[in-house]
Amino acid sequence: MQSIAFKPVGKVRNDFNTPDDYRKIKTKPSYIEVFDAYEDALLGIEENEYVEIIYHLHRSDYKIQTYTNSRPDVLRGVFGTRSPSRPNAIGVTNVKLIKREHKRLLVEGLDALNDTPVLDIKNCDTSLFAYHCDHNPVHQSKLKVSPRIDMRSLIFGAHTDILMIKAAAMHGHYCTGLALGILAAVHAMNILEAESDGMEDLLAITETNNCFADGIQYVTACSFGNNALIFKDIGKTAFTLTKRNGKGIRIAAKSSARQVIRDTFPDHNRLYEKVVAEQNRTPELLAAYRNSSLERAFGTLTLPFEKLFEVSYPKTEVPSYAKVHESVICSSCNESVMITRSVLVNSKPMCYVCGNQTYGVIDGNGIKCS
Ligand SMILES: [Zn+2]
Ligand SMILES: [Zn+2]
Repeated sequence: MQSIAFKPVGKVRNDFNTPDDYRKIKTKPSYIEVFDAYEDALLGIEENEYVEIIYHLHRSDYKIQTYTNSRPDVLRGVFGTRSPSRPNAIGVTNVKLIKREHKRLLVEGLDALNDTPVLDIKNCDTSLFAYHCDHNPVHQSKLKVSPRIDMRSLIFGAHTDILMIKAAAMHGHYCTGLALGILAAVHAMNILEAESDGMEDLLAITETNNCFADGIQYVTACSFGNNALIFKDIGKTAFTLTKRNGKGIRIAAKSSARQVIRDTFPDHNRLYEKVVAEQNRTPELLAAYRNSSLERAFGTLTLPFEKLFEVSYPKTEVPSYAKVHESVICSSCNESVMITRSVLVNSKPMCYVCGNQTYGVIDGNGIKCS
């Protein structure tokens, strides 16, 4: 077998010149001095709170089996251990990046000796754990740089079931409306290959304010709060996702979609009749109704898309970016109010409430004036 040669990209600098307990070495910060030729490879590295250091265990011996610190009585093959004595003396450690000083990285958690040749530095890969490791500090630091990193893989991997579980944390319950919103939004995001950073470059126009709209908001990150959600109060289970150039996709529930769902889950209809229509609320019936609602909501996610939705590609008129307005203090209630929502009464600014002005309200019944 041909041998492979590596050229170090840098060196470790710390106070440990002779082999010592790796746990002790890990507690002290180390510097990694990157060689001049690789300075450009450090561009942007400070965005990572954690990095992976690959290095040559230059002082280690070679063993094929070894005893470990945690089980000194059990002989193991090195491939099942992190022992430094191995066929190819390569060490890999995830470390915390404290700071970058030009070509030097100050790191915490490295267990390498002074002068250790560093072979590579990488951003940590936690993709395997991404779905269930929100508490993992390495993953958290990635989320700080890119909060939608997990959403992206869920959307482009069409993991609608996981998306519904997450969306239900906002929506409060599972239902077919939420499921339809998730299906429509995932489809639209995939067709447009859309990324969303909540900066109004991607806009969602919902034509309803029912459960469907929450699936749309959660998946697209076009929300009420980031001005990327537009509400057309026309009572249709439909939405348009568009980029700023007006090229978008409209997805509307087919008029037959409701019947398709009913026909697929006939037991649920019987329970609905008893529990909701006839108000027969025994604990057994209520529990059965809850279970069948859950089954129907998740089951809806597995129905063929074309049986539920109609797709079109209209040219959409996109509003300009939302303006940031100054605030004034209402001369009556003393609360700060956006200048565009204030009125002058006897030359003094007042909020709409104190100034007895009408203003728009969106509630469960739609948009209306106060
Ligand atoms: Zn709902
Ligand atoms: Zn006021």
